[in-house]
Amino acid sequence: MSRTPVYNFGAGPAMLPRAVMEQARAEFLDWHGTGMSVVEMSHRSRHFVAIAEQSEADLRGLLAIPDNYRVLFLQGGASTQFAMVPLNLLAEDDTADYVNTGYWSGKAIKEAKRLGRVHVAASSEAENFLTLPKDKDWQLSEDAKYVYYTSNETIGGLEFPSVPETGGLPLVCDMTSNFLTRPVDVSRYAVIFAGAQKNFGPSGIAAVIVREDLIGRARPGIPSLYDYAVHAEANSMSNTPPTFSWYLCGLMFRWIVGEGGVDAMQARSLERSRALYAAIDASDFYQNPVDPRFRSRLNIPFTLPDPALEKTFLEEAGEVGLVTLEGHRSVGGLRASLYNGMTMEGVRALVDFMREFERRHG
Ligand code: PMP
Repeated sequence: MSRTPVYNFGAGPAMLPRAVMEQARAEFLDWHGTGMSVVEMSHRSRHFVAIAEQSEADLRGLLAIPDNYRVLFLQGGASTQFAMVPLNLLAEDDTADYVNTGYWSGKAIKEAKRLGRVHVAASSEAENFLTLPKDKDWQLSEDAKYVYYTSNETIGGLEFPSVPETGGLPLVCDMTSNFLTRPVDVSRYAVIFAGAQKNFGPSGIAAVIVREDLIGRARPGIPSLYDYAVHAEANSMSNTPPTFSWYLCGLMFRWIVGEGGVDAMQARSLERSRALYAAIDASDFYQNPVDPRFRSRLNIPFTLPDPALEKTFLEEAGEVGLVTLEGHRSVGGLRASLYNGMTMEGVRALVDFMREFERRHG
């Protein structure tokens, strides 16, 4: 039985590597001779605890996570962290600094405003979110409890090339769309979080890396499942975790280790994105409007000279197995997301199709 070889360019849930999918299939009915599927296992069983421990060890190894950081695997996706970050790091009268670079940082700002004082320290809204504000121009508050930014704006297609400098203020990062696609100096951060469904697993789970001294300071009176301390204390098993999603993340971590780690993921993502940007830039037919210094390796929005052609583009692409190329519903246009599960063959197929489409419709 073969899987129809479509290339899924969606922004997430995204393609996972074929080898990971096949391993999950091979182990599905009987995990390691236990006679049980992972979906049927108690999260408290020694088998699942071994899966969980291995996944954490592999993630720690991949990012060289220092010992004074806890790794949590939590439900509620990345969006739940929009609330958990302020609930754990910010008292009601405290101020947090946020950098507004587009849709996802905007969502985080909106949520944080419900819970505390938010100072927007920098914004690229006036530039239509087509560039990123340089960290040296950020207007940080002296008493900010943390500075929050989004390392890759999934919809706008912008990526911070390096870790911003905050003059010692704790840095919080939504790394959802570029997590595990390049090395990260975790020691520069207070909190890093990422939903799994783009670069390292299925939806339903997020990895949260929190510096230990920031755990245990949650606001009194909040629901216990919003408190990092509760999850840290229980090794992310305060209640039943999304066991199968967690197991798949573990398979992805193993796969990344086997492929050469985050350095290899970075090299591949550069190769994939450069090929697609080169194709876009070589033509007058396709346009990507993002400041070239901040173009994302992971999400590449592009437009056609006539938006009326988009429907035809999507239909014809679909016919040759290139799917989910529509831009986010909030911005329209087209977008190709190239996460860890995407292959260079997929990008070549897309580039070939784009050339051919331009030839016929340009
Ligand atoms: N942050 C970023 C940068 C994202 O791209 C997304 C999902 N597209 C989210 C947060 C929200 O993730 P979730 O749907 O897991 O809550």
